[in-house]
Amino acid sequence: MSKSVVPAPAADFVVPAPPTVSLAVVGSDARFPVRRVYCVGRNYVAHAQEMGFSGREPPFFFLKPADAVVPAPADKPITIDYPPLTKDLHHEIELVVAIGEGGRQIRAADAMRHVYGYAIGLDMTRRDLQADMKKQGRPWCIGKAFDQSAPVGAIVPAKDAGDIAHARIALAVNGKQRQHSDISQLIWSIGEVVEHLSNAWTLAPGDLIMTGTPEGVAAVVPGDRLVGTVDGLPSIDVRIR
Ligand code: MN
Repeated sequence: MSKSVVPAPAADFVVPAPPTVSLAVVGSDARFPVRRVYCVGRNYVAHAQEMGFSGREPPFFFLKPADAVVPAPADKPITIDYPPLTKDLHHEIELVVAIGEGGRQIRAADAMRHVYGYAIGLDMTRRDLQADMKKQGRPWCIGKAFDQSAPVGAIVPAKDAGDIAHARIALAVNGKQRQHSDISQLIWSIGEVVEHLSNAWTLAPGDLIMTGTPEGVAAVVPGDRLVGTVDGLPSIDVRIR
């Protein structure tokens, strides 16, 4: 084994080590450390249709970097900056699943054992750049995985979150409702998402899964205030600067 793959017990780093991004947990002083952010694309029929698809194609995955997460404390507003390069920044309200126990090839029926809890997230999207990448058959990173692209609220442990599989999900911008649906409308259920994902990657504690957005995605501009809600979870309140 080469020496370079064995880290010293208390390693010195040649540049500052990145901080661990973490989320508040309702009812706990301890926080949830974020490892990876998996995202599900087109997991609601009506959203797939508004994006020009039939809604009968299977959903799929992409990722955001962990440090794209902007942690929102429970019921306290946060601010994000309008990102560069885009003229069409879209909101996507999503249920976020927080993985507490890792694994691979997890069956949907066993998935809940691996779920620590749930939060509300926004999959902010530079839609014009994403559309351009789609047209060219190139990766979506520049449209999806930019700085501050994933505001996420406080996590509620699964046992305290109620019947999340049948919770209402909604987003209002400046007090007007833009998106509203129900988690029961997911094409891949929470369990099925965990099954598909864990067939492709090994899940680990700290992984977040943004489960997809319902219909009604649209643009926001600096000064807008986005309030996302899911029954049983603390709302997320995000201002665009
Ligand atoms: Mn999304």
